[in-house]
Amino acid sequence: MPDRILFNDLGAQRRYLGQVVDEAIRSVLDRGLYVMGPEVAQLEQDLAAFCGAKHAISCGSGTDALTLVLMAKNVEAGDAVFCPSFTFAATAEAIAGLGATPVFVDICEDTFNLDVQSLQSSVTAVNDSGLRAVGIVAVDLFGQPADYDAIEAIADRERLWLICDAAQAFGANYKGRQVGTIGLATTTSFFPTKPLGCYGDGGAVFTSDDELAGTIRSLRIHGQGNDKHDNVLIGMNSRLDTIQAAVLIEKLKIFVAEITARNRIVNRYNEQLGDVATVPNALAGVSSVWAQYTLRLPRCDREVFQSFLAAAGVPTAVYYPRPTHHQAAYRHFPVAPKGLPVSDRLAAEVVSLPMHAYLTEQVQDQITAAVRAALAAQA
Ligand SMILES: *Cc1c(COP(=O)(O)O)cnc(C)c1O
Repeated sequence: MPDRILFNDLGAQRRYLGQVVDEAIRSVLDRGLYVMGPEVAQLEQDLAAFCGAKHAISCGSGTDALTLVLMAKNVEAGDAVFCPSFTFAATAEAIAGLGATPVFVDICEDTFNLDVQSLQSSVTAVNDSGLRAVGIVAVDLFGQPADYDAIEAIADRERLWLICDAAQAFGANYKGRQVGTIGLATTTSFFPTKPLGCYGDGGAVFTSDDELAGTIRSLRIHGQGNDKHDNVLIGMNSRLDTIQAAVLIEKLKIFVAEITARNRIVNRYNEQLGDVATVPNALAGVSSVWAQYTLRLPRCDREVFQSFLAAAGVPTAVYYPRPTHHQAAYRHFPVAPKGLPVSDRLAAEVVSLPMHAYLTEQVQDQITAAVRAALAAQA
């Protein structure tokens, strides 16, 4: 009897890793440097080398990573920052948390990422209002980088900085540029279920800007200066635990192989489902790390579909059923001049299937057979 199918099988990864993580954690316990131990600097070097960024600065979470960059840019009340609504709420939360105004922009239905026409019209609208347009936070949703050539053209023309929220996309590549090297800064998350996850909360900022890197290194430790008893900025407490750094050093060693496995699994899903559902594809020249494998089911009752799969032992999830601009805390913020019709439609159409690097072909065949049966039942 096969094991229950899991949406994201972290246990399989743990079994594959064997004892190395246990040993890495034990060595942190033995040394006793639980905060900012040598593993933290080691991991930062490894992460920077992995993506080719000049600076990698670890911190407490992906949300904190965004907040740290926005704080370093002095984002404050009266500032408008453009971001998608169809993403995890943390993207807008980091902006609104500093008193600034997130301006919600629509997305493209084929990539789930920022629609540059909606972005441009939002910038024009903000420029005509009382708000000060200062920057863009683009999201690389489900593991695929946003269309940075087009976004950068708008950022340059409108004198806006660009932050890439790559919480789901560390390891991906945009037209020869590795995620972590695009924009003023890139942020990521090491939440356990992200493509590169630790065993708790964690995050990082990547940048090639020396001054910005220095400011963020200070902000994550209460704004400390060269003399640690003289805080030069009002910062926060957001360090990556040494134990999590030790875990990530080991997981980074198998990350490339995991990304390859994820791509192989997605190709297979697409072969088996492409004729019955709208399957996801990366744009030409762009690679994805497939944080999620997300189908669109425009002509189907999603709840019925999900119940059918659940009865067949196949877990599914909806990312995201409620775009941020419809959530209670964010409803009053501005949206693109033509609204967010694509975000609204996708919120009703999308469903994600089990996705992780350890999905076997046998289990995958079971999943795709169940998906085909669920769709046939509604045809
Ligand atoms: C997960 C996620 C975050 C937040 O990361 P945490 O580490 O959970 O704080 C931010 N943005 C996006 C797009 C995410 O998926």
